[in-house]
Parts: sequence; structure tokens; C-alpha cells
Amino acid sequence: MIRKTCIALALAAVLPAAHAEFPDRPITLIVPFPAGGPTDIVGRLAAAKAGEILGQQVVVENRTGASGTIGMAATARAKPDGYTVGLATVSTHGTAPHLFPKLAYDPVQDFTPISNLVTSPNILSVNPQYPAKTLAEFVSHVRANPGKDGYANAGAGGVNDLGMIWFLQITGGKMNSISYRGSAPALTDTVGGVVPVIFDNFPSSLPYIKSNHLRALAITGTARNPRLPDVPTFAEQGYKDYDVTAWYGVVGPAGLPAHVRAKPAPAFANTGRPPATPANRPTPPRRPTPAPSPHTPPPPPPPATPPPPPPTPPPPPPPRPPRPPPPPHPHPPPPPTLPHPCDTPPIASSHSLLRLPTLTSHYP
Ligand code: GLU
Repeated sequence: MIRKTCIALALAAVLPAAHAEFPDRPITLIVPFPAGGPTDIVGRLAAAKAGEILGQQVVVENRTGASGTIGMAATARAKPDGYTVGLATVSTHGTAPHLFPKLAYDPVQDFTPISNLVTSPNILSVNPQYPAKTLAEFVSHVRANPGKDGYANAGAGGVNDLGMIWFLQITGGKMNSISYRGSAPALTDTVGGVVPVIFDNFPSSLPYIKSNHLRALAITGTARNPRLPDVPTFAEQGYKDYDVTAWYGVVGPAGLPAHVRAKPAPAFANTGRPPATPANRPTPPRRPTPAPSPHTPPPPPPPATPPPPPPTPPPPPPPRPPRPPPPPHPHPPPPPTLPHPCDTPPIASSHSLLRLPTLTSHYP
């Protein structure tokens, strides 16, 4: 018996361990901001699509606080086995390292980059009760009332806080920064009238602007966004050098083995692509044509007769009689519904004059 055990142990030490193919269980994606905010929206969409591609569920876990740095510290400390990854943002990897002297991670040394996802413009919006109807009126109102109003933002020192501080510097205004754990609670308070102004990323503000719960005054970027064609850019309203872009990307802890990284990297990279349409769907690989056998006779030549003429089109249908007007509705119309928050933007402006480092500038 002892001999058999010794042989088994010796074999186990010599033979390579039979590793299950990665991933053989769900992957956790740490989202460092609250549910309903832009990072969460991007993260949940990416998790669903990457999960389909990987054949394993990607589960979102919101670990919020301190401008996203708590969730990112948890990502940095995770076991580098590919089963825990995190959603890095311009705030966690671009601004925080320059502003937080006691940051619990090094944005470069403590992570393995996995994939960029998307970038997003930012929008300055106000509660519909706010007196300013345009950006010009906003600037005059803030200048005339220094330090009176607050602006909601997704975290102290994050991209939305700094973006607004920069705009106030340019325009000579003074406002109070009201920082939240993320965009979702900041939006709740702006829509509810607790704070009158918000500077926020596109995906989370979009439904509130569409449903008129917020009035958008300006959007960053060089061109208007097709989802909000009536919202003018800062540039077209005179602020040509003002642009602030947010970005999102997936990282793992430092030391993620290359063969493990190789699986989620293309899966997440593909999540930002538009869905396949007949025009952009990749052509399936062609089946190799079998080599002609020396015994098979060659195929007959195509018939020499010209193809028959196309059939004559049928005559157009007779014009329809006009529709009768619909009967009056017995109930009052339902309240307007918010568009689905997952109505995310296409990749927007690709640069930021704030010159915030991106995943690709951190890592070659
Ligand atoms: N504005 C934050 C960023 O882009 C994200 C806020 C949130 O997701 O709640 O870093």
C-alpha cells in the first residue's frame, strides 16, 4: 500500500498536470463605480459579449468608492489567474495617480493590460429648473453668482470633477464641487434638484437628456454626437481648445501569464465592435476545393446559349384608399419611459486636450 502511494506521488511529480482549458469557470469583472453609471453600463455590455465569445459567464461586481480607486486596488491584489479582472477608467488610471499621494496601486506596475474598450464624450447638463438655457447663459449666470451653485460629479479628482474645474478656470467662474461615488448617484441628485448642474460621461446622461429630465448645454468632442444631434459642442460655442474624453479598458493584476491573457484580450476587444451586419460580417473561410482527380472527367463547359431575359415586373398595385382617423384613446397616454440605459454611444472623440494618459499610452 505504502509502495503504491509512493509510486502515485512520484508519477504526479513527474507527469505534467492536466490543466483544464482557461476559462473553466466564471470570470469576475470588477467595476469600480456604482451600478447605472457609465463604467457599469460599459462593463455590463462588455461582460455579456465577452462571456458569449469566451463561452463562460463574466460576472460584474461593483466595488465602489474613492473615485474608483478602491475597486482598482482590489483588482491589483487579485490572484493573477485571469478569473478576476477590472474595468480601468481615465479616472482610476489617468487622473488618480497624479492626485492621490497614497494611492494603493501603481497604475502601470500593478496591472496587466488586457484591452481598451471605448471612449466617451462628456456633457454639461442642468436641472430643467435652472435659469440658464444655453452655455452662454450658464457662463454669465455662474460669473454673476460666484460660489453659489454646486456641480455634481462622479468622484473627487476624477475626469468629471477635473473637466468642470478646467471649464470654470477658462470662463472665470466659481462653483462648489459636489462629489459622489459615481455618476449614478450624482445624476439622481441632479435630476431631483438637490444639485443644479452635472458634468458627466455620455452613456449615463443620455437617457435623462432624451427624457427631458436634464437639459444638456454642451458636449465635448470635435463634432456633435449623432445620438444627441441638438446638443451643440463646446467648440462650436466658442471653446475650441476645451475637450475632455473619458475612456474605459480592461486590466488584470500584474503577472497575468501570456497564455491566460490571450483568451480574454480578443474577447473584450471584440465587444466594442458594432454588431455584424451583412456588410461588415466577416466572410466565413472558404472550403478548399478538392483537387481534380486524374480519373474524373473535366466538368462540362458552360452552355453557350445566352441566359433568358428577366421576367417583366408585375404592374404596380392600385393606390390604397386613405386610412380612417384612429378612434379616440379611452385612457390618458402613458408617462414617457426612459430609454434603456444600455443605449451606449459609438466610439466618440479619440483624444483629450487634458492629455490624460490612456491604457495604450501606459503600455506599449
Ligand atoms: N466618470 C468616471 C470615469 O470615467 C466614471 C463614473 C461612473 O462610472 O460612475 O472615470
